[in-house]
Amino acid sequence: GRKISNRKTTSVYKADMHTYLKESMLSEMNLRKGLDLNEFELHYQPQVNCRTGEVVGFEALLRWRHPERGLIFPADFIDLAESTGLITPIGEWVIKESTMQINRWKKIGIDNVSISINLSPRHFLHHTLPFYLDKCITEAGIKAEKVVLEITENVALEDQQAVTSRINLLKDMGYAISIDDFGKGYSAFIYLQHFPVREIKIDREFISELGNNSKSTGIVQTIIHLAEMLGLRTIGEGVETKEQWDILKQLGCSDLQGYYFSRPLEVDVINKLFEEYGRGGKLILPHAKDLT
Ligand code: C2E
Ligand code: MG
Ligand code: MG
Ligand code: MG
Repeated sequence: GRKISNRKTTSVYKADMHTYLKESMLSEMNLRKGLDLNEFELHYQPQVNCRTGEVVGFEALLRWRHPERGLIFPADFIDLAESTGLITPIGEWVIKESTMQINRWKKIGIDNVSISINLSPRHFLHHTLPFYLDKCITEAGIKAEKVVLEITENVALEDQQAVTSRINLLKDMGYAISIDDFGKGYSAFIYLQHFPVREIKIDREFISELGNNSKSTGIVQTIIHLAEMLGLRTIGEGVETKEQWDILKQLGCSDLQGYYFSRPLEVDVINKLFEEYGRGGKLILPHAKDLT
């Protein structure tokens, strides 16, 4: 219970606020410095075709290799990046780096993979985004078709007209738009009604319950049917077991992503996997060989 006196609460609050402000200012400086010093890196998580198990793409996931604190995950710095506006230059770095990676893979014969990039709502609506994307794919010598832009439903909190025209423009330019964490928030269906997206990523919370909870199976089945009716692809996120894979295959999910197949990996590791298990630029990960 809250039995602390008002006076004490206030002083605790003030002390917290003070450390908080101090720390967040330091972090903002660090974040900017991290970007300038090239301390960010991308790890790539394979996405596999649900029927064949073949790797069809990678999601680029941001990490910050801090010189003192080691590897820092997005949960610990994305909010700060968003509130300070640094998310746009950071997002630009992600776009540049991941399109160059597609180019490097192409050069070594890994040619049939797409790259999925997470974009914050703020960056997604930023006026320079379409130009920046085209600059990067031109420099990397790749097609827009290889690039998937992931947005979350938070984008629906922004001006709907602006979001719709942005999605239409990017779609006309050849980029695919994906709705990340589909079903997690409250505005999932607004997307489907208004936004011409190519795919939805079914949130991990539903996938993790598949097989344990018949309601989840029903919900996932309904999402997949709905997507099929609207001509959208579906990606199951956070697949951790063979059973979840089997159920998603039965339900007709298009692609899958999750620890069962692979964690997000560094480029070197992916290249080794292609060397070891790849056949003519195609890769079936060891775990995905277990087809039924
Ligand atoms: P997300 O886009 O939904 O990415 C999937 C997250 O789930 C990743 O966490 C991934 O490592 C994790 N994951 C994948 N498979 C499994 C699984 O089988 N089980 C479990 N428990 N987790 C799994 P990560 O890399 O920590 O990223 C967290 C979030 O940070 C992302 O969620 C995305 O919203 C955001 N994020 C990551 N990179 C970027 C970026 O470059 N820009 C922006 N704006 N946001 C990013
Ligand atoms: Mg994502
Ligand atoms: Mg997600
Ligand atoms: Mg997320």
